[in-house]
Parts: sequence; C-alpha cells; structure tokens
Amino acid sequence: MPLIKLNKNNFFNNLDIIAKKTKTKDKIALVLKDNAYGHGLLEVASMAKEYGITKAVVRTYDEAKSVEDFFEYILILADTPKEKNDRFLYTINDLNHIKDFPSGTRVELKVDTLMHRNGVMLEEIKESLSIIKKQGLHLEAIFTHHRSADELTSEWYVQNETFQKVKQKVEELGLKNIRFHSANSASLVRTQDFNEDMVRVGIAAYGCLESHVYDAKEFKPVLSLLASQNSVRTLNKGARVGYSANYTLGCDAKVSNYDIGYADGFFRCLSSNYTTPQGFAQVGNISMDNASFLCDAKELLIFDDAKKIARDANTLAYEILTSLKASIKREVL
Ligand SMILES: *Cc1c(COP(=O)(O)O)cnc(C)c1O
Repeated sequence: MPLIKLNKNNFFNNLDIIAKKTKTKDKIALVLKDNAYGHGLLEVASMAKEYGITKAVVRTYDEAKSVEDFFEYILILADTPKEKNDRFLYTINDLNHIKDFPSGTRVELKVDTLMHRNGVMLEEIKESLSIIKKQGLHLEAIFTHHRSADELTSEWYVQNETFQKVKQKVEELGLKNIRFHSANSASLVRTQDFNEDMVRVGIAAYGCLESHVYDAKEFKPVLSLLASQNSVRTLNKGARVGYSANYTLGCDAKVSNYDIGYADGFFRCLSSNYTTPQGFAQVGNISMDNASFLCDAKELLIFDDAKKIARDANTLAYEILTSLKASIKREVL
C-alpha cells in the first residue's frame, strides 16, 4: 500500500524557527485545515501538542471537534454553529452573516484589507461591532489575511497599514481586550519584530514555504510519499507502457508498477514527465490506482519535497499536499 511518512524532527525544526520569530510558542496557532494540509489531522495534532502548541486553526466544526483534546484554543474559519457552543471560536466572514450566529457564540471578526475574498471592510467595522453586540456574541479577536505576502510587491505594506487603521478604529470605539492577528507563514517570515497576538502558520510548519522575499530553505519538508511494487517485467526496446500506449521504451528495461495513482493524489498531468528524488523515471500514463517506473525497487519514494513535484505539475505544494487521500496510512518517524 502507499505510505505517508511524517518526519517529526523536521516538523519540530520548523516550529523552532517559527517560535524564534514569535518569541513564544503560545502565539503560534497551527493551521490544521484540510486534514492538516494532507499530513493527517490527528497525527499532526498529536505532534504539535507534544511540541507545546496550544492553538489551532481549522476549517469546520467537525475538524475542531476531532482535535478538541489537543488544543486550548481552536479557531474555525468557515462554519456556523447550529447551537451555542463556547468551546470553539467562529469566524465572521460577512456582515450579513452575523445574524446566523446563536447568541453567546465566541467569535472573531475577519476584516478585508485588500484580498477581497472574505471579511468586512474598514468602513463596515462600526456597524459590524454594533450588530455583534446586539446579537449577543462574544467578540474576542479581529484578524485579516494577506493575499501576496510571498511576493515582492507593496501589497504586504498596504495591508499592514490598513490593518493598523483597523486597530485604531477599534480602539477609538472603546473596545477592550480584543486580540489582533494578521500573519500567515509568508507574512511572519518577512516581519522584522513580531508583536501581534498570534500567527496562523500552515505551510511553513509543514516545511513547504516558497517565498520570493525570504530564503525559506531552513524549513524542512515534513511529508514523504512512498509506494509499493505491484509487479515487475523486463520489456524490450519499442514496447509501449500503460493506457493509450503513450510511452515507448528507448531500450530494453525493467519496468515496475507501483500502487500509487491519481486517485491517491499523484497527478495524472505528471505522466511520463516525472522523475523521483532517487532518479527513477515515471513512464506511461499514470492510472487511477497505479503507475509504472523504470525501477526495480520493492518500495519507491515518490516525493519527499512537495515544492519540487508541485513545480513539475505546474501547481503549488498546497495543492499537492491537500490532494493526498486521507485513506493513505500516515506513519510518524
Ligand atoms: C490557510 C490559512 C492560513 C495559513 O496560511 P499559510 O500560507 O499556509 O501559512 C492562515 N490564515 C488563514 C485565514 C488561512 O485560510
């Protein structure tokens, strides 16, 4: 069966780098949405707890529920509670949705500082706060999200300035004890003297941050994907491999088939155009549940750095990682 190996030393190395920036582990909120970026929700939650992380960010109530024993604070990014629940914090993404939260819900207000995806605008803050109050919600934090912190443009500065205005506005309105946070991985690494209440880090903790602003090589990938040999055959020059006979052998060769395919998250667009870290070429169309390689090993390392395979597939490490099926066994090293 295919296997995902998680390197705990690398994970802790990445958290060490992040904690150095935040100056305390308490300000790190680890983003665990979408099965912890494909790494495995419970496996990562357990390693994070062992390291001393007390905060997590998830997408849904169901995710929050499954990791509630691991963290003190859990922020849900995109879900609405059906009944009052004071264990988790919920994100308000839109002014018109405030009325959907039951009275007593602990909430964080998202502010749109340029990304134009979710959150209320600066001009809507006053109205939002008054509806939140009327609705009987407990507002604990205000946050925003960067759209291009990994790129060398002025947008990062513009968003930081707008968020400063948000903070001023909230202060003017007389609200006390509100926490503020804005940084994701890319934003944190380019922040010189971090002084917000929290960071929401995902990709850097998993060791796959790519930034045009910051040399992120010190972060080490946590996840490797391996597959097992289904069968092996020796084929003659000219033999064609796999569906649609798209690949023709240039010489006699041993060709093995491994139990990893596009249904597992090994993208079909990589067909006959991918070489493993150990130098074995993938040949023929990648099938749903298997793929062939010029290789004879019983166990084959498919990738150990999602950034690299993402480049070959013309996408991001985020998509490679979150495409890995939850049914693949995860093993912590
Ligand atoms: C996914 C997400 C993050 C984490 O981003 P990374 O680039 O993985 O660090 C932080 N905040 C919000 C709101 C997110 O949706």
